[in-house]
Amino acid sequence: MSISPSDPGTLSVNAEYFDGRSAKAHAVVLTLAGGVLSLRGTTIQRDDEITSLRVSEPMGLAPRLVSYPDGAHCEVRDHAGMNALLGATNFQDSWVVRLQDRWRWAVASVVIAVAAVVAGYYWGLPAASEWIAYRVPEKMLAQLGSGTMRVLDRAIFKPTKLTVERQLALNSAFAWLSAPGGKFKQLAAPGDERPSYNLLFRDGGAAGANAMALPDGTIVVTDQLIALAAHDEEIFAVLAHELGHINRRHGLRMLIQGSIVAFVVSWYIGDVSSVAAGLPTLVLQARYSRNHEREADEYGAAMLKANGISPRRLADMLAKLEASHRLKAEKREKQEDEPSIKRGGVGDYLASHPATRERIEALNSAQ
Ligand SMILES: [Zn+2]
Repeated sequence: MSISPSDPGTLSVNAEYFDGRSAKAHAVVLTLAGGVLSLRGTTIQRDDEITSLRVSEPMGLAPRLVSYPDGAHCEVRDHAGMNALLGATNFQDSWVVRLQDRWRWAVASVVIAVAAVVAGYYWGLPAASEWIAYRVPEKMLAQLGSGTMRVLDRAIFKPTKLTVERQLALNSAFAWLSAPGGKFKQLAAPGDERPSYNLLFRDGGAAGANAMALPDGTIVVTDQLIALAAHDEEIFAVLAHELGHINRRHGLRMLIQGSIVAFVVSWYIGDVSSVAAGLPTLVLQARYSRNHEREADEYGAAMLKANGISPRRLADMLAKLEASHRLKAEKREKQEDEPSIKRGGVGDYLASHPATRERIEALNSAQ
């Protein structure tokens, strides 16, 4: 049955039609029957499934808009007439429900998207980074390590002032302590195998009393840290802790994690080359998580105990490092004209080793 506005008893409403191509308004009449919205004008007529159209919500005196998929639209100023037209077919209910559904979906999808990003960041990203960390080729690790060391040597460190004899003595004593088996059966690093490492001594410069592990297994100890130690066992305790970071590839994992974020961001911005250039900075800025520190402490404590050394040695050293860096930070506040690289997080032991107090307590009770 064809419906025309002239049919008696059929609800109709006046509207203005815009075809979406010109600004010209066409006076039309709308009717609704059998789910089809019919539009009749002097030169225009169209019939559309009401479900294919978008009808705006009533908003004060503003005209209701009926939008067609092809870009055309109708403006209806007769609100009462429009409500009657839509109400007669239950369309009102269905579009309100559809609108609410759409809202519910929009909110739900935003919540899901945010949850996915957060979950990805907290769980997916660390897991992916760990997986990658154990599959990075040795050659790449070596390049990363030497590149970082070059930056550190240029920007912060100076050559060590330790005598060659002292360096050799510390090196061989630690090699002996951390060797699996070896001369004394009880002297061993925990785990199946000792990670390969390379011990380097440097004057810490602005980094002060410090020790750090690079992704390739390089452990740097500063003269200032060695001077801070009251006993060589305290130095070995710090080295054992750093060996724990290397064993679990913590530095590399933080680096990969940071790189993934940097990579995604730069890919989005469209400049991936900057990630490669920023790698040494990422190595330096890597902040170990509390979890990583706990793992490294446990590794270090196990290694010390296996060698008959008390884990308190590590706790004592942590306390001294904290005191030393607090003093340095206080001095720094008085010298604000210092260049920013010296003030920055680079090599800041406290910044890269959070929750020191907590760790000291854990180590002291790990007897
Ligand atoms: Zn650490």
